Amino acid sequence: MVDTSSKSSHYRGRFAPSPTGPLHFGSLVTAVGSYLDARSHHGEWLVRIEDLDPPREVPGAARDILVLLEKLGMAWDGEVIYQSRRHDLYRAALSELEKQQLTYACVCSRKEIADSSLVGISGPIYPGTCREGIKGSLQPDKDIKRSALRIRADQRAVAFNDRLQGFLSHHIASDIGDFILHRSDGVFAYQLAVVVDDAQQNITHVVRGADLLDSTPRQMYLQQLLGYPTPVYLHLPIVTNEKGEKLSKQTFAAPVAQINVLSQLVAALDFLGQNPPKGLQDCNLEAFWQWAIQHWNPDSIPLSGVSTGFMT
Ligand code: GLU
Repeated sequence: MVDTSSKSSHYRGRFAPSPTGPLHFGSLVTAVGSYLDARSHHGEWLVRIEDLDPPREVPGAARDILVLLEKLGMAWDGEVIYQSRRHDLYRAALSELEKQQLTYACVCSRKEIADSSLVGISGPIYPGTCREGIKGSLQPDKDIKRSALRIRADQRAVAFNDRLQGFLSHHIASDIGDFILHRSDGVFAYQLAVVVDDAQQNITHVVRGADLLDSTPRQMYLQQLLGYPTPVYLHLPIVTNEKGEKLSKQTFAAPVAQINVLSQLVAALDFLGQNPPKGLQDCNLEAFWQWAIQHWNPDSIPLSGVSTGFMT
């Protein structure tokens, strides 16, 4: 049943939730998809808590996510990794890029950028104001402290074949622009941290939501500059509510409940096009996972999600 083209002798996958709130049905789908893909390849499945951005974090959310995964019968391999404890690794990767003169400090405000930018695939393309050094009547010490760090985007095209979404190619300079690696408030950017962690944890396969599809060429660009390998990617359809909005904290998605876990797991499997047989929710967790791993077929995952009234 498993797509053998993506089968590797050693598979290491991961689930990387941001602890900005409890898991909702959309994040459950990602957890289930990444777990089944790893287990059906006899691979490892790691959990990484992406707590990079303290103001967005909800106290206790990381612990609640782990407790819920255990309740769902989803056992991870090894220690859970927390991004908040890995700043030294991100700093080292930044130094490596700095050494290659691939980064520069930027003091432009969002408004300045919005006022003078073309819009690219992921928002405004930075117009390059600070590329050749911070200009004007600035106080260097103070401004360096409140500056962001950007990568110099070059003209290369970064292309890949997603296992579900197919071929995608971005010209980093003209489609994306010089993107941020370290924010002016001191927070490391997701794009940098995820690349460092996937490489450092030897992740071979990434299964995550299609909202991150457009981030992948940026991540591959950083992998190329840092000399890291590129994992195989599969971007799952996104779960939306009746209004067509992605389930999230901002759209008030309901948390996955700790009761009736089997019916929620069956709904996730159904969303992923796996055609669970009637009665699967009446069995136990062990039998559920056994069926789901044995029958996991990535070719049956629909390209785009259908709105679901379930758990929204
Ligand atoms: N932390 C991200 C999220 O919760 C996922 C990042 C990834 O899988 O690369 O949306």
